[in-house]
Amino acid sequence: MSAFVDARTLAAGTVLKPDIAIVGGGPAGISLALALAATKLDILLLESGSMNLDPAVQDMYAGSQSGDDYASLDAGRLRTLGGGTNHWGGWCRPLDASDFEKRDWVPHSGWPFPRTALDPYYPRAQALVEAGPWIYDQGDRLASAKAPMLPLGHGGLYTSWFQFSKMRGDVLPTRFGVRYEADIKAAATIKPLLNANVTAIRLTPDARRVDRLDVATLTGLRFTVKPRHVVLAAGGMENARLLLASNDVMKAGVGNQNDMVGRFFGDNPIPRDVATLVVFSGKRGPYYGNNLNMGNGAIMRAVFAPTAAFARSRHIMGSLTTMEHPVELDETGKAAVITAAIALGVDASNARAFSVGCGMELMPDPDRRLTLTGEKDALGLPRLKLHMRVTDDDFARYRLTLAELGRQLLASGAGLLRLNCSHREEWLKNMDWGHHHLGTVRMHSNPKQGVVDGDGKVHGLANLHVAGSAVFPTYGASNPTLNLLALTLRLADHLKRIAA
Ligand SMILES: Cc1cc2nc3c(=O)[nH]c(=O)nc-3n(C[C@H](O)[C@H](O)[C@H](O)COP(=O)(O)OP(=O)(O)OC[C@H]3O[C@@H](n4cnc5c(N)ncnc54)[C@H](O)[C@@H]3O)c2cc1C
Repeated sequence: MSAFVDARTLAAGTVLKPDIAIVGGGPAGISLALALAATKLDILLLESGSMNLDPAVQDMYAGSQSGDDYASLDAGRLRTLGGGTNHWGGWCRPLDASDFEKRDWVPHSGWPFPRTALDPYYPRAQALVEAGPWIYDQGDRLASAKAPMLPLGHGGLYTSWFQFSKMRGDVLPTRFGVRYEADIKAAATIKPLLNANVTAIRLTPDARRVDRLDVATLTGLRFTVKPRHVVLAAGGMENARLLLASNDVMKAGVGNQNDMVGRFFGDNPIPRDVATLVVFSGKRGPYYGNNLNMGNGAIMRAVFAPTAAFARSRHIMGSLTTMEHPVELDETGKAAVITAAIALGVDASNARAFSVGCGMELMPDPDRRLTLTGEKDALGLPRLKLHMRVTDDDFARYRLTLAELGRQLLASGAGLLRLNCSHREEWLKNMDWGHHHLGTVRMHSNPKQGVVDGDGKVHGLANLHVAGSAVFPTYGASNPTLNLLALTLRLADHLKRIAA
C-alpha cells in the first residue's frame, strides 16, 4: 500500500533510485504503472499536478503560437493527476489497419508494425476506459434491430461506430486520476509522487543513457531521480518540450540529433456545420445523431468512414463524419429535397435535416511543429511555441469524401447532402479541435525519420522510452486515447522483458 506522497514534503537533495521512473500521471502514465504493478520492479510515478487543478501549475503549460488559429496551449491540456481525462469526451475507436500502412500518397506514412501488433492489447485498453464490450464491428447488427439504418449502398463510405468511455446518465467519462487512485495506492511497488515537476533529463557524458532526472516543486525544492529506466508520459506536447529543453549533453536536445523532435505536430480538426445532411425518411437512423445504449453496457454512435479502397483510389486521409444536431432547411434546401425526391421516386414528406461535423486527419507536415522560445516558466523551463498549419489540400481531400457520401445517399434514395463551406476562411471559421496532440516524437525504425523506434525507445539511448500519442507517425481520424493505451500496454510488456 503506497499513499500518495507530496513531493513538497521531501528533504531537499533527496535522491530516489527506482527501477522505472514514469514522468506524467495521465492515462498513459497511470496505465503503464498499473500494468507493471504485478512485477517486482519499483515504479516511481512523477506527476506535476495533484488531485485538483492549481492555476500556478497549469500556467507551466502556457505557450505561444503562429500560423493558423489553434486552441491556446494551456487550454487543451490539464496538469493534474489523470491529465486530459479530467476533461475528455470519452469517444473511443480503434485505429484502422490502413492507418498503420505505408501509403504512397501520404509522405512519411507507415508505422514500424501493423495494427495486428496492437490487437492483443485493445481489449485491456477498452477495459481501462470502461467502454463496455468490444463490439465496434457489431454496431450495424445491434442498431438495425432497433431502427432502420441509412442505406449507403455500394461506395466509398460505410457506417462505422464509436464506443464511449463510461458515460451513463450523469456519470462522466472515466477520469483516470479519480478512477484509479485506489488501485495506485493498493500497489505496493508503485510510489506516486504528486507536485513533482521533471525539469531536465540528464544524460551520461557519452550520451548513451539517461543518468538522472532533475525534479522541482513550485515551493522551491529540488531533488534527483536516478532510475534504471525512464518513460516520458507527459502528453503529446510536453514530451517534446522535455526532450528539446534537456540540451546540456546533446546540444539540439535529447533524441534530436536529426532535428525531428517537435516536428509533425498533428491534431484532428473538427470542422462543424460544413454540410447539411437530409434524411428523406424521418424514421431512419436516430443513432447517427445520438449516442445509443445497446443494452449490454456499450454506448455507441454511428459515423461515416471512408473505406481503405476509396482512400487509396482518391488519395484522401482519414475522416469520421458525424450527424450533429437538427437544422431548419432554407427555401433553396427545401426545394432541393422536393426535386430530388420526385426524381428518385421516394417519399420525403418526413425529411429531417442535420448539421454535419467531422474529425479529420491532416497530411503529415514536418513544418507544423513545436519549438522552444526564450520565455521561461516558473521553474525555468523554456515555453513552447506551436506553428500550426492546415492546408487547402487538407480541406479539399475531405470535400471529396463528403461528395462521395452525398452521391451514395442519392444513389440509395436515402437522402442528400449539401456542402456549406467552400472557401478556406469558412472552414477555419467553423473549426473546432479534438485537442489530440500527436506526432511530435514520431516513431520510425530509421533514426533519421523518427525519434523513437518501434518499441517506443528513443533512438541512441538505452534506457529512455516515450508513451502516448506523440509517437504516432500517422494517426487516422479515431480519437487517440484508446489507441495510446493499447500502445502503452505493449510498451509495458517490452519493459518487463528488458528491465526485469
Ligand atoms: C476537451 C478535450 C476532449 C477530449 N476528448 C477526447 C475523446 O473524446 N477521446 C479521446 O480519445 N481523447 C480525447 N481527448 C484527448 C485525451 O485527453 C488525450 O489523448 C489523453 O489525455 C492523453 O493522455 P497522456 O497520458 O498521453 O497525456 P496527458 O493526459 O496530457 O497527461 C500528461 C500528464 O503528465 C503530467 N506532466 C506534464 N508535464 C510534466 C512534468 N514536467 N513532470 C511531471 N509530470 C508532468 C501532467 O500533469 C499530466 O497529468 C480530449 C482532450 C481534450 C482537451
